[in-house]
Amino acid sequence: MPRPKAILFDLDDTLISSSGERQEVWAEAFAPHLHRFAERTEAELTREIEAELRWFWSDPVRHREGRLNIAQTRLDVIGKVLARLGIADATLAADLSEAFRVSRDKRTKLFDDAHTVLDRLKADGFQLCLITNGEGAVQREKVRRFDLGHRFHHIQIEGEHPFGKPEPAAYAHALKTLGALHGEAWIVGDNLEWEVAVPSSLGFDRCIWFDGFGRGLPKKATVTPTHSLTRLRDLLPMLDPA
Ligand SMILES: [Mg+2]
Repeated sequence: MPRPKAILFDLDDTLISSSGERQEVWAEAFAPHLHRFAERTEAELTREIEAELRWFWSDPVRHREGRLNIAQTRLDVIGKVLARLGIADATLAADLSEAFRVSRDKRTKLFDDAHTVLDRLKADGFQLCLITNGEGAVQREKVRRFDLGHRFHHIQIEGEHPFGKPEPAAYAHALKTLGALHGEAWIVGDNLEWEVAVPSSLGFDRCIWFDGFGRGLPKKATVTPTHSLTRLRDLLPMLDPA
């Protein structure tokens, strides 16, 4: 099997778990503020906000704008839900939004084999790129917090460039920086469009879907990845020269 020259990794829900434990995150965020909700229950509010968030993130244009200003997006979504529920409290949306951020950040963890796998791949001579969407400052802070900076030859954050995934220019720029062609590269990530469908159409050698929470392929998925992993370390045998 030809060895790839370069391997591109997504960040959120690929190297770090950003979206797990949503119920716990909301429960903790709501807890100090429950007395401000009158007869509304925490479960009801969580349902409403999650539904609004699903709607918000379902559109690619809204998604792009939203992820490049995540604090404002969260505030707007929570504010909209509170208004719809007839809760007129100017500071509540801001307090909930901040409480959500703190609670979610506290639960964000590195997948336990991420460092080992990256260090092994780097030592084996692969060119490694972290390619992530989102705001520069927000994503840089995650890179710092999880000690990822020195593990990559190139770190590419959407907010620091005029392009992001799934724009072909984003992948092309990363590959050019690493000195690899599309056909000489693998990409690993949890987003079926950004890390499977689009790079596959662009000619990446392998597009590997990462299912770190073991949820399986969504029923509505329109793409079937040729490779799926639930643990990053399962990437290593795929790269052994045997
Ligand atoms: Mg991701």
